[in-house]
Amino acid sequence: MDLNNFCHELPKVELHAHLNGSLSRSTMLHLKRYYADSGLEDKTNAFFDEFQIGAGDCRNLSDCFQVFSIAHSLTSTPEALAMATTLTLQEFHSDGCCYIELRSTPRNTQYMTKEQYVDTIVHCMQKSSLHLSMLSRFIISINRSYPVAEAEAIAELAIASYKKYPDVVVGLELSGEPTIGKFQDFVPALTRAREAGLKITLHCGEVCNPEEIIEMLKFKPDRIGHGTCIHPRFGGTNDTWSALCASKIPVEVCLTSNVNTKSTPDYDSHHFKDLYEAGVPVIICTDDKGVFTTSLSNEYRICAETFNLDQSRVARLSLDACQHIFADVQKTVVNKVQSFIDKYNI
Ligand SMILES: [Zn+2]
Repeated sequence: MDLNNFCHELPKVELHAHLNGSLSRSTMLHLKRYYADSGLEDKTNAFFDEFQIGAGDCRNLSDCFQVFSIAHSLTSTPEALAMATTLTLQEFHSDGCCYIELRSTPRNTQYMTKEQYVDTIVHCMQKSSLHLSMLSRFIISINRSYPVAEAEAIAELAIASYKKYPDVVVGLELSGEPTIGKFQDFVPALTRAREAGLKITLHCGEVCNPEEIIEMLKFKPDRIGHGTCIHPRFGGTNDTWSALCASKIPVEVCLTSNVNTKSTPDYDSHHFKDLYEAGVPVIICTDDKGVFTTSLSNEYRICAETFNLDQSRVARLSLDACQHIFADVQKTVVNKVQSFIDKYNI
């Protein structure tokens, strides 16, 4: 099997995907058609090209947060949000994903409340499990650029949703513009969620901020996202790097996202290599497959080619990632990946 096919066929788990950033061009076209057909105002006069950020794009990490408003305006009604969720789940499934944790920040819009936002995504996930051979779970996101009171309200909503839908809602995460907001301010909300049983993942080390990285690692999240500026080569310190290596907190690695936002100069110098060699658990993820025009199988292929990993190592990346999923279905997911490995004797 050639590498492209192999990375596509390999059962994979996606643990870091933002719903609104994952909308493909085709999903956005469906949404635009829905707005036109329903007579609703389509506020996305932006061209699709503005939504997609390629390698040669002059926009950086900070600019990326602007493009999400395009997707947000396309998911403002329950019907549109349901369409976006369902189509995105189908795309991950077609790409060989066997388990996904999709994340999103609940928003009040003109047409729905934050509670309805959560209910809509949950119902789509429940429905999709009836016809897709992929398990899907929901991580609720706190946007760190919102006021702390809003974060507290989201955490309460996450706890209530976890009680209401324990089979779907699995975690709470902190994301958003990394130069805004102080991690310590969100600790009480994150702690309450953790005590209620939710798993926690934090976007960590997206920008150079060793103090915050140390605070985040001390909090002992179940996983972190990116971890770009933790190694001293990328603006971290010996302390941040040794704290991560000692903690062995799994890192959700998003290669193309980091390269296209210029958080990392190129694939070759990506910190995946440092993490992998240091034995820190790594999970290959897409972050925003729509914005960065990628897919999970594409990220696996890039990883294999860049770091010269043979098929056996690539398969083990997927197998190891199963250990870090938030839902209590590790065995089921491991079995799917393991039977692929056994079938092809990899
Ligand atoms: Zn992210």
